[in-house]
Amino acid sequence: MKSNQINLTFSSIAENVGIARLLIASVGAQLDLPLNDIEELKVAVSEAVSNAIIHGYRNIPNNLVYFDLEVTRDTLKIAVRDRGCGISNVEQAMQPAFSTDPERMGLGFVFMQSFMDDLQVESVLEEGTTVTMMKYFKQTPSPTH
Ligand code: ATP
Ligand code: MG
Repeated sequence: MKSNQINLTFSSIAENVGIARLLIASVGAQLDLPLNDIEELKVAVSEAVSNAIIHGYRNIPNNLVYFDLEVTRDTLKIAVRDRGCGISNVEQAMQPAFSTDPERMGLGFVFMQSFMDDLQVESVLEEGTTVTMMKYFKQTPSPTH
């Protein structure tokens, strides 16, 4: 598997959720991941990018979201970063069904957690949030004969 690095910066508008989904789907297809894994990657990316736009930047469009992908022989690393409001209590924010918006389900982090192999959230109030997600590729055992 070839190493690859992609760094994309885009405006904090909902239209770009679809762009990020297309990009991760394309990378997943190049990596020959099963369709189901690609669907899960798309959901995890959608949730992280939507959070940056909706919560990080409070839906204000003239801000930037940083979307970074790194592929190595056996890992895919996805980082979604905003320079928005930050999260006051990350542990609480990651609880299932917790949301600061009563209209929302509070399930974004649950999807990211369940669809990815590792999830790290770093956040500083008034500085922003970085969500880093890892996918580890299953090693196919090499033939012994
Ligand atoms: P849903 O994703 O189901 O629409 P939600 O976005 O509220 O609802 P999560 O995605 O799990 O649920 O996020 C939980 C909470 O964490 C949010 O309500 C918000 O307060 C906070 N949060 C998440 N991402 C960010 C971010 N990038 N910047 C600031 N706050 C965030
Ligand atoms: Mg969310």
